[in-house]
Amino acid sequence: MEKLFCLLEEYENEMITIRRYLHENPELSYHEVHTPKYIAEYHEALGHEVRTAVGGRGVVATLRGKKPGKTVALRADFDALAIQEENDIPYKSKVDGVMHACGHDGHTATLLVLAKALNKLQDDICGNIVFIHQFAEELAPGGAIAMIEDGCLEGVDVIFGTHLWAPEPLGNIMIKSGPIMAAADGFDILIQGKGGHGSEPHQTKDAIMIGAQFITNVQQIVSRRVNPLHPAVVSIGSFEAKNPFNVIADNAKITGTVRTFQEETRDLIEKELEQVIQSSCQMVGATYQYRYKRGYPAAVNHEEETDFLIRNAQNVKEVQKVRICEPLMIGEDFAYYLQHVKGTFFLTGAMNPDWDEVYPHHHPRFNIDERSLLIAAKTLGIAAIEFLNQPAELKIEQVKS
Ligand code: MN
Repeated sequence: MEKLFCLLEEYENEMITIRRYLHENPELSYHEVHTPKYIAEYHEALGHEVRTAVGGRGVVATLRGKKPGKTVALRADFDALAIQEENDIPYKSKVDGVMHACGHDGHTATLLVLAKALNKLQDDICGNIVFIHQFAEELAPGGAIAMIEDGCLEGVDVIFGTHLWAPEPLGNIMIKSGPIMAAADGFDILIQGKGGHGSEPHQTKDAIMIGAQFITNVQQIVSRRVNPLHPAVVSIGSFEAKNPFNVIADNAKITGTVRTFQEETRDLIEKELEQVIQSSCQMVGATYQYRYKRGYPAAVNHEEETDFLIRNAQNVKEVQKVRICEPLMIGEDFAYYLQHVKGTFFLTGAMNPDWDEVYPHHHPRFNIDERSLLIAAKTLGIAAIEFLNQPAELKIEQVKS
C-alpha cells in the first residue's frame, strides 16, 4: 500500500494541475464534449481499454491487473453548472455562465491520477479496476442510469465513489451505512383561475390567492401527514403570477422540490400535494395542472462495503477522522449504481480551516481545499487494492464459522 501512497504523493501536483485545467474549462450537463475527450485520451495514453460515448457522453476505462481476480469500479462525475463564477482566482472559469461549482473537476482529476498510479502497480494487481467517468450528474435523469444501461457495470463486483465536500473540514471522511443521500424529486403546478379587474374581485377566480392557500397548506404535509420518524422536505422554489398592480391574476405557476428516503413517504407526498392543490382550487372553482417529476432515488450504502471502506480509510495518514454522519437531503445519482452492485459512497472533507467564509456547493464563490484530492485518491485507491487483495476464500470461511 505504501507504494500507491508514495506514487499519489508524487503525482499530487499533477492532480491539482488537471483540476485547475478542468475548472477553467467547465461544460454543462449533457453538453460535455472536451471533458470526455480529455479523459479518454488520458486513459489511452496509459494503455487502458477505453470505451467512449457510454450511455451518451460517459467514458469507461479498464485497467487489467497481471493476476486474475475480481473487478472493482471507481466512479467520478465531470459535469459543471450554469453559474457565473465570482471567485478571483488564477484558474477562474473561462466559460461565461458555466462553473465547476460542485467539485466535479476535483473528482475527475482525482480519478485520472489515481488511475495513473494504479497503472504503475499493474503487475501486483489481482483483477480489474474499472474507472467510470460519468457525465450529467447535476441534471435528472442523469448520466448514471444511461451508463448502467450501456453496460458500465458489467462484471463489476463492487463500486466505490466519493464527493469532495466543502462544508466538512479537510481530513475528515463522512460516511454511513444505509441511506446517505435522499430521493430528490420536483413538481410544478399551473393554477388556472379567471383574471379580471382589481376592483371587481367577485367576478374573478384569483390565482394568486389559490396559490397562497396551496403554499400555506402544503406546510401541513410534512408536519401532519408524514410519519415523524421518516425524514422529508417539501420546499417551494418559485411562485409566478406577474400582473400590473390593478389586475387579478388569471393564472399562477408554482414549482418545488421534495426530498425523502422511504418510497412510501415519496408516494404519500406525491399524492398529498395533489390533494392540497385540488382542494385549494375547488373552493373557487378553478382548475389546475399538476406534474410530479421523480428524480434520483435515495442512495443507500451497503453495510459490509461501508465497514470495509471505514477500516481502510483509517489507514490513510491524512485522514484524521472517519465521521459516521447523518444522511444528507441532497440527491446524487450514484444511487443507481448502488441499486445494481454492492458498494459505498462517502464524502471527503474539503474545507480549508483557515478560510474566513465557506461557500456552499452550487455557490458562485464555491471552492475546495485542493489537498482533499490526495485524500480522496488515497482512500479510493486503498479500498480498490485491498478489495482485490482479499483472498476469495475469506468470505466462505466467515460464513462457516
Ligand atoms: Mn455534485
